[in-house]
Amino acid sequence: MGLALESDIRFLKGVGEKRAQSYHKLGIRTIGDLLRHYPREYIDLTQPRALRDCPPDEACVVRATVLQKGAEQHIRKGMSITKVLACDENGDRMLLTFFNSHFQVEALRLEEEYLFCGRLEPGLTQRQMSAPLVFSLREGQSMMPVYPLTAGLSGRVIASAVHKVLAEADLPPDPLPQPIRQRQTLAELGYALRAIHFPQSAFELETARKRLIFDEFFLLSLAMERLKSLKKQASVAPFVQLELEPFLAALPFRLTEAQRRALEDCRADLGRGVPMSRLIQGDVGSGKTVVAAACCYLSWKNGAQSVLMAPTDLLARQHYETFSRLLGPFGIRVGLLTGSLSAREKRALLQDLAEGCIDVCVGTHALFSAGVEYRDLRLVIADEQHRFGVAQRAALAQKGEACHTLVMSATPIPRTLSLIIYGELDISIIDQLPPGREPVLTYAISTDKLQRAYGFIRRHLEEGLQAYIVCPMIEEREGASSVQLRAAASYVQQLQEGPFAGFRLGLVHSRQKPKEKEQAMEDFLSGKTQLLVSTTVVEVGVDVPNAVIMMIENAERFGLSQLHQLRGRVGRGSRQSYCILVSDHPGEGAQRRLKMMCRTNNGFEIAEEDLRLRGPGDFLGHRQHGLPQMKIADLGQDVQLLQSAREEAQALLAGTRDFERDYPEFAHAIGRLLEDTGERLN
Ligand code: ADP
Ligand code: MG
Repeated sequence: MGLALESDIRFLKGVGEKRAQSYHKLGIRTIGDLLRHYPREYIDLTQPRALRDCPPDEACVVRATVLQKGAEQHIRKGMSITKVLACDENGDRMLLTFFNSHFQVEALRLEEEYLFCGRLEPGLTQRQMSAPLVFSLREGQSMMPVYPLTAGLSGRVIASAVHKVLAEADLPPDPLPQPIRQRQTLAELGYALRAIHFPQSAFELETARKRLIFDEFFLLSLAMERLKSLKKQASVAPFVQLELEPFLAALPFRLTEAQRRALEDCRADLGRGVPMSRLIQGDVGSGKTVVAAACCYLSWKNGAQSVLMAPTDLLARQHYETFSRLLGPFGIRVGLLTGSLSAREKRALLQDLAEGCIDVCVGTHALFSAGVEYRDLRLVIADEQHRFGVAQRAALAQKGEACHTLVMSATPIPRTLSLIIYGELDISIIDQLPPGREPVLTYAISTDKLQRAYGFIRRHLEEGLQAYIVCPMIEEREGASSVQLRAAASYVQQLQEGPFAGFRLGLVHSRQKPKEKEQAMEDFLSGKTQLLVSTTVVEVGVDVPNAVIMMIENAERFGLSQLHQLRGRVGRGSRQSYCILVSDHPGEGAQRRLKMMCRTNNGFEIAEEDLRLRGPGDFLGHRQHGLPQMKIADLGQDVQLLQSAREEAQALLAGTRDFERDYPEFAHAIGRLLEDTGERLN
């Protein structure tokens, strides 16, 4: 009997309690997890180099003979070093330093050749290599895996554990049906797992990667499709009152054609017996809020409650004001639930919600915290979807409360990505701005024009208008938080004492607590500050119509979509607005990107270009979308495979009446995937 993949990692020979803890730190709990702990990269041992050909400070493999072994030196408690002298076939020498590796040095034989892998430092008298990886010549036939590591686990330990598992474990039959493998020319799972860890050639590695990437996309697609069909199986009492005229007639403007289409989509959804599950995508300022309000109006008409969830207190308050204005006149009771309510206010509000004395409640994620009960909640709207990921949507779906859900996003996402990020949602797009809106004028300048730009900003501030300056700080390394803070603060001081003496400046930076950040935003909103300096992306969605200039320094450091998001902070009022991109970066790519920003205001066009240029990182950054983390797949690079995996997943689901019974492995894996996402989101 071999090892089962579900067995605890402790069952592996050589893994005790302590080592198991280290494995846990890497997220490895079972034998199967270990197999799915893929190498980060590979060291090609087949092409060792002579010392004189090795570039300094770059990892390389050197074939060399051991000449001398020094004695172990204890340099301080718990730390010893041992030096070894070796030379290559040209007679060039290098000094190897081993840390706490007495045992390993012991095993090296004098006059014998090995492969040493590490970074070569020039050294005073001779080349040095610290903490090299050592391989026997026998191992030199292949590529050695390099694993993501943690304290207490060396690459060698992991590699040999994986080796053991591959030799001893009972790999279950490949769960991916044969016809799919054939159609997509995919390797068998057992082969792929072996080859991803110990490839014999670049070809093997490629073949293995393709299969494992496909698996990730396939599972993700299955999960999305399952969520979608769970939703479609649920039933709700359809809204029967679908008359919107009174609401539309009371608006101070006419809806744009695009708004009307999106609203029509929603209205059709709400009239069906199946819960709505829709995403509205539209550039900043395209007027999504009023569509949301119209849906809440319908909900109220049908005697149901609705909620609108915003990512921050401040945004929630802004929406609350808008909703009160739009819906209040009909006698619709609008409430606000945020973290800043007093205990008494909160208690009263909760009671009102439970008794149905509030029809529409605006708030933050507090809307879904324990203890909040609704009398008849039937519509959930999430604004700026970033923090409303797959898992939350799944949680809602599983609550059994078959609610209509509407998600609104101002981040234009390339179509290929939105299929997967929002795979289980229907999508409406608002691709039109309300009439009379002056498009933001965008200029790219170099820093020698900075003084003129400051003057331009000053003139607008003097007129009572407001402006933003965004300056990504150069220090971004981890642990540099204090440096960054000082840089931001001293920059503001510099501006305050120099070009903006006598003006009221505010500061937002990434190390502030959410409360401080909101206070700074609030001061800007109320006009208490005139110029907001920000080292981070200004909070999405906050509407300060009086702000007319967005200046972005080191603009080359942002992706196109980020720049576009930032630009969307201005141009919200009736005044002509400007976006000034400052950059001295000479690179052709950077210049091309800035030119594109000057040329177009179309978010979708920009998003497609951004995906092409920089990959999907900006769209998926920081797991904002609540997608499960991919182990090996890259959503930007592997779009083709994503497409095929999605089609196969759809076909597989279409061909089964009982997914759970027919594909228990997949059902199980999907469960884990979504659970995982949930954990990470908290
Ligand atoms: P976003 O899509 O970024 O959430 P908002 O819903 O906040 O945009 O709308 C931006 C501004 O445009 C608001 O002040 C809103 O009142 C206004 N607006 C929305 N729709 C129209 C329209 N059809 N005509 C004129 N102004 C509109
Ligand atoms: Mg909005």
